Amino acid sequence: MMVKMKGFAMLGIGKTGWIEKDVPDCGPLDAIVKPLAVSPCTSDVHTVWEGAIGERTDMILGHESVGEVVEVGSLVKGFKPGDRVIVPAITPDWSALESQGGYSMHSGGMLAGWKFSNFKDGVFGEYFHVNEADGNLALLPEGIDIADAVMLADMVPTGFHGVELADVQYGDSVCVIGIGPVGLMSVAGAALRGASNLFAVGSRPNCIEIAKEYGATDIINYHEADIVTQVMEKTHGQGVDKVIIAGGDNDTFIQAIQMVKPGGRIGNVNYLGEGEYVRIPRAEWGCGMGHKTVAGGLMPGGRLRMEKLASLMVTGRLDTSKLLTHKFNGIDKIEDALMLMKDKPKDLIKPVVIL
Ligand SMILES: [Zn+2]
Repeated sequence: MMVKMKGFAMLGIGKTGWIEKDVPDCGPLDAIVKPLAVSPCTSDVHTVWEGAIGERTDMILGHESVGEVVEVGSLVKGFKPGDRVIVPAITPDWSALESQGGYSMHSGGMLAGWKFSNFKDGVFGEYFHVNEADGNLALLPEGIDIADAVMLADMVPTGFHGVELADVQYGDSVCVIGIGPVGLMSVAGAALRGASNLFAVGSRPNCIEIAKEYGATDIINYHEADIVTQVMEKTHGQGVDKVIIAGGDNDTFIQAIQMVKPGGRIGNVNYLGEGEYVRIPRAEWGCGMGHKTVAGGLMPGGRLRMEKLASLMVTGRLDTSKLLTHKFNGIDKIEDALMLMKDKPKDLIKPVVIL
């Protein structure tokens, strides 16, 4: 294999550029993967331009990819060079105590299952390293377009995790706050889980259209009126059974508590980048006794979960192609795709780069 490779990197807070690095070494349990398609994420923008995870120097960016295995360690059983794989954004250490406790995403410390473009180089290079290949890679099924499949790395599992955190059940009325790519996947996931009335909070026309296609029954446009007022009107003052937060800010929890019924659950998958506290409204929280649960979580990774999610695409139950508004070809276009994510033109949902 080549010894040197290029990658698109964070040079420091607010600075990006192409750099050259050694191709990473493959440990006995690990794999080296060549990306076939990648997608920049809002998290990459937070990392570089908001310094969300602190200073990083010459760190290759990116955590959403599908790729081809080029090398596996001597102890890897389930993968071999040439396999096409989905690479989840979260790649836990499966032997960690946190993983044994059911929280693989926090293996080694809170949120430490997130390694790509955080604790090590990400996927925006010619090659990248995957720890514990047997646990963290998933075979890409035949017949799925690789651009569509990149959405399995983060958008699908994160959006669906919001649905899991909110514990959506058959017939639940559900409100999804935020219909960017993650929120749209929460809409799709809630519909698959059997939501009845499915409210989607957003304003951009293309996202509204796609939310309806994924199963939203009502659109709540926050430019038109207060979203809690709208949800309460549409539910005859009852509120909803479940809320999924996939956008907004720290104060969105106030609205979520206000619109969820007693006994309801709020699942948050939105990244809260600033501020010291999240406020909970006392009276609407039943003066502390309303049985309104707030659960926030980073998506789990794992081969089993990723292959199950991929099977939803194989069987035609989930179509991620609606998210892909901008497609690029060639590794050099990673920079353009990331800048698009940073500038967020109105028609953007997700860019993807085919390498
Ligand atoms: Zn992402």
